[in-house]
Formats: sequence, C-alpha cells, structure tokens
Amino acid sequence: MVSFIIRRNRLGFFPLLLLLIPGPLPAQSAPQSAPPAVFGYADFTAQAKIEEKFLAVPDAELAGRHLKTLTAEPHLASSPEDRRTAEYMAEKFRAAGLETEIVPYRVLMNQPKVVRVEAWDAAGKLVMTGPTREHVEGDPFQDDPRVVMPFHGSSGSGDVTAEAVYANYCRLEDFDQLAGQHIDLHGKIVLCRYGANFRGVKVYIAELRGAAGVLIYSDPQDDGYFKGDAYPNGPWRPETAVQRGSVQFLFRYSGDPETPGVASTLDLPDAARIPAEKSGNQPHIISIPLSYHDAAPILQALKGPGVPQGWQGGLPFHYHLGLASGAGGVKVHLVSQQDYQRRIIWDVIGKAKGSEYPDEWVIAGNHRDAWVYGAVDPSSGTAAMLEAVHGIGALLHEGWRPKRTILFCSWDAEEEGLIGSTEWVEQNAKTLERAVAYFNMDVGVAGPDFSAAAVPSLKQFLRELTRAVPSPQGATVYDQWKKDRSGNERRASNAPPEAGQDAHVSDLGSGSDFTPFLQHVGVPSTDIGSGGPYGVYHSVFDNYAWFTQNADPHFLYLQEMARVFGLEALRMADADVLPYDYVAYARAIDSYLEAAKRKAAEDGFASLDFAPAQAAAARLEAAAQKAHGLQITPSGDLAKLNLVLRQTETALLTEAGLPNRPWYRHTIYAPGEFTGYAAVVIPGVNEALDARDESRAVRQLAVLAQALERAAQTLDSVQ
Ligand SMILES: [Zn+2]
Repeated sequence: MVSFIIRRNRLGFFPLLLLLIPGPLPAQSAPQSAPPAVFGYADFTAQAKIEEKFLAVPDAELAGRHLKTLTAEPHLASSPEDRRTAEYMAEKFRAAGLETEIVPYRVLMNQPKVVRVEAWDAAGKLVMTGPTREHVEGDPFQDDPRVVMPFHGSSGSGDVTAEAVYANYCRLEDFDQLAGQHIDLHGKIVLCRYGANFRGVKVYIAELRGAAGVLIYSDPQDDGYFKGDAYPNGPWRPETAVQRGSVQFLFRYSGDPETPGVASTLDLPDAARIPAEKSGNQPHIISIPLSYHDAAPILQALKGPGVPQGWQGGLPFHYHLGLASGAGGVKVHLVSQQDYQRRIIWDVIGKAKGSEYPDEWVIAGNHRDAWVYGAVDPSSGTAAMLEAVHGIGALLHEGWRPKRTILFCSWDAEEEGLIGSTEWVEQNAKTLERAVAYFNMDVGVAGPDFSAAAVPSLKQFLRELTRAVPSPQGATVYDQWKKDRSGNERRASNAPPEAGQDAHVSDLGSGSDFTPFLQHVGVPSTDIGSGGPYGVYHSVFDNYAWFTQNADPHFLYLQEMARVFGLEALRMADADVLPYDYVAYARAIDSYLEAAKRKAAEDGFASLDFAPAQAAAARLEAAAQKAHGLQITPSGDLAKLNLVLRQTETALLTEAGLPNRPWYRHTIYAPGEFTGYAAVVIPGVNEALDARDESRAVRQLAVLAQALERAAQTLDSVQ
C-alpha cells in the first residue's frame, strides 16, 4: 500500500551521474587502525569486518533478475501467481541457509466481479461509461488477461444512481467547506481526487456525511502530465492509468476484518470470527477508482458554484462543485459486485537463529503481493530484500551466527490492509514482547532519493548505518540523504519540525507493515525507501518496463537498498547494547507535548493541565541520559540492560488502547483517524483536541502521563 510523497525531479543530474559511475562502488571499508565508535558496540573492530564482508555481497545484476522474476506475472494476494512468488522466496531463503516456512492464513478479501460507472449531464446526455481499460502505446505488459480490473479492496457492493459532487481531496476540511456552502451530501456520489490523505479516510468521511458512493480519481496535477511527461515518455501517470487500493478503515485496525487481535490461522473456527458487516474496519458504501480519462467528462459536466481556492486540478477546464440550485446535476450510476470470500494467503518466514540471545528477534520485512505487477510497489523492496538475504547467507555459509535471531519476512496481502503482517504479529504477540526491532521496506526503489521513517530511538541508528553504505551518486547514502533534506518528507505528521540540520527521519504513521509491530505490540520500528518521480502507483504500468526505463535501469539503487536493509538487521542483531536513543525519544515527546499545549491554549482549552505529562517526559529524559551513559560504555550485566531498554518501549503502550480503536495501543504514534497515512503524535490527546472534546483530552492526558511515568521508571531501573 504505502503512502508515497512525490519528490522533486532532479532533472538531468542523476542520469548523468549514472553514466559516470556505471558499476557498483566497492564496499566502504572501515579504517584498519581505528575502527569507528559505533553506538551499541564496546569495540566495533570485529563487527566492522563482518559488515564489510556483508556489504560486498548484494549484487545489482542479481537484484535486477529477482525483480524480473517477481514481476513476470500479475500476483494479487491469494492468486496462484502469488503462491508461486512465495515459493520463489522460500527457495531463495533456504539457499541462504535460513530456516524457512510458508505460513498460511485464511482471511476475508474481495475481488471484483463487475465494476461499472456511467454518467449523464444535466440535459440527460450520456457523457461517459467506464472504467476504460488501462492502455498506452507500446507497453509490453498491459494486455495480460490476468490484470485485475481497477477496484477498491474493501469496497461495498451495490447499484446506485445519484447526483455527483466534487469534494477535492476529500479531507475533513474539504467536506467542512462543502457543508459551509450548504451542499448536502446525503445520498450523493462524491468525486474525490487522490492525494493528501489515505483513500480509506476519504470513503470514511464520505460515509459519515451520508454519501451513497465514492469515486476516487487521479488528477494530472497530482501525479500526471502536470508534473512531467507521462509514461511511456516519462515516469508520470498516463491518461487511462488507475490507482487501485484498499479503502479499509485502517485507522481502526489493520488485518483481516473478521479477526481483530486474533490470528486467522487455517484452523480458526468460524465462530471465532466476527461478521464482516459488524467489523469496524470495512466501509459500507461503494467506492470505485478512476483514471482522469474517465473522471474528466464527469468533472467537466458538473455545474453549480466554481471550486474554492486550491480545489482546481490539472484538467484543462474550470472545475465546479455540482448541485447548484436550479442548475441540474450530473447523474452517475455505479455498479459494484464484489466477490467476498475467505481466501488463503502466504507469508514466507526465514530465520537465522541467534547464538547468544535467540529469543530477541530482529525482524526485517517487506510485502510481496501486488495489485498487478508491482515492480516498484513492492517488488523493488522484495528484490532488495533477497539480495540482503544473499549477503547474510554468505556470512552464514562461512559459519558466522548472529547474536540475536534474524527473521526475514515476505508478507502477503499487504495491499488489502496489511493482512499478512498483522495476522502474523497477532499470532506471535507474546514472543514479540522481546523482539528488538522491526525493519520495514515497501516501495524499495522508485528513484534515487533515500528516505526513512522511524521511532525516535532508532533515528540516529539509521543515520549512523547509512554512513557505511556507498551511494551510486558518490559518497555515502547518508551524505546524499542529508543533502536532499528538503525533499525528504517521507511521511508528513502533525509533529513539529525536527530541530537541527541532520538527515531527516520522519515519524511512522501507517500505510505499511510496520503498523502492527509498532502500534499494536510496541516493537521499535523503521521504514526505508528510495523515491523519485513515480506516477504509476497501483496501476498496470508499475511494471518491469516502467522500472527499467524510469527508476533504476542498472539496479544500483536495488543494491543500495539491499545493503542498507541487511545492515539494519546485522548491526542490530550483533549489538552488545541495543542502540536505542531514548534521549532523542524523550525530547521528541516533549516537543509533541509543547505543540499540543500551544494548540490547546489557542483553541481555548487553557485549563487543560499538561504539567503531569511534561514532568513525566522530563523524568524519562533524565532516565534516558543515565541509560545513555551506560550504553556508550557497555559493561556489566548487558542482558539486563538490554531487557530494560526494550521494555521501555512496551511501557508506552496503553492496555485499553486508543479511544474508539482499542487495537491501536501506542500512546505516542498512530495513523490519524482523518489522515490515515500520516502519523498523529500523542494521538489520544491530539485527536481529543481536534474533536474539541475537553473531557476526553483530560482523560487522555492522564493516560499519556501514566505511560510516560511507566517508561521513565522502567528506564530508570538500569544499573
Ligand atoms: Zn506496497
């Protein structure tokens, strides 16, 4: 699924560099005389040699071959082709020496039987029928009969005819603006454009406002010709390309709609599943994705008031809201027949058992299923993961063992709602209390711009390890990343901007498989990727031809991401002391509290008492300073120190969960109810303020203060 934020095109600069540096750079070697001091290691000398060996293995050409194999066929979750990719992964994992199993789950998912859209203008003239098949001149992959028709995962079924209203990005503020103009959405079909929030949130708010159906289209302003040349002449979205995707209410819970908190194993009885219509994470109305080819005639026929500032998209006519009194509306007919069934999906788990701390898992995961071919999303990540596994395998074959157990995971059905990862996390929740990190990669490579998101305790870890990986653009990944700081807004959040000029690491919201790990069971997580101009997200054109033309023709960024991803696992698995930076964490929390306090004062909630939470955050920072002193000079009972460090993150969970969404238990990070992808920081408090619910804000401030107090006491128990 993954939220993608398009970064600025670097114009001709990058391809030129590629020509100058055609081959992989040698792995950077640590200076022989004085190994660098690396956080978490008493003496990095031996580890530097292991890392050097690892970094020499991931191979650009082999990564390219994996990508070609993985994207040879459309491989929608639960399809026979998806099963074949699972077997390919298992074979590669085993060849690397990983103890490997394919783990199946039975989960509820829809596939489309009929999807139809028709529209008539105010005079009753038919202006469009669709969806039009995705097509451009010369793409070698588009005509495969297995390409699934554009549809929305979790869409309702039905047949509805109603007048259309244009609602911009369908953000909360867009709906409020329509309400301000007295435009009633009850029984209407809402036309949204993609962008700005998660598509499930668009449908959620439309449903709350009484809409009968939703159309979501890709406006050329957001990822089409307005940005640059469209595929096949460039990387941007062509006229007929459609963004498929899930409209699940992900901010309630992720995973199988019938089993929140429970793993949908094959033997789970039906009685243990809740009926989908009673589940909290499924919309009830129809939702259909459209290309701008199909949306343009509807938009052009809409009359009524012209759109407010900022609502005009890139199509060559002025946009109107529709539904002016007396003007007559555009009538739209939607048909959606969705085949809902419990279907089998397959995660692939490969394990290298730890020699010293086998119960402390280091987990590195990427999803494998795709809406169609998924060259960028997710197969670039999968190809990079396979080369990381290749590198770890080379060490294993030499007899090396990680100190902690490393698991590589190939998740299924991420696109339908993080299903494979969520079910596995729910099944292994107890063991995961000891897991020391989850490293995610989804869109591995869409271009040359490295970016990352993480819990604050792992932000410095990421910056430090990217200093050891060469960039195809010269120097290190870290150097290029830092240079590109302005463009790196991987996931927006409501957090205040980070201070300082270091490489920017974003906060974790949602939209990929780290969500169950961090936000349900409290495993410290990161998410990495390498971005660029990418307009074919979730369309048939996200394929090998597009990838080799636009993203990474020599697979050098696949190699780079394999090195970074593998190094995350390697460095974490072998660390003497877990390299969590709780000073940074405590400071981040303090800045979140400051910002919320300011907002509360501005909104007239001056009586809210932030002092107990702020005092607890200050105690957490003091405990973090003390722990940091022990972490930089590791000695004594390291197992005990590591346990305390790990339990500090767990202490930030609240047993009761967040208001209206108990599955989400992290008090510092959650996907926003009204943003979806983007993180809401200290969500209990901030969402209460957004809802202007003062008594809820009081209760949530108390919950937060208790969590921070628990974390401070836990961390303070280090000796
Ligand atoms: Zn993805």
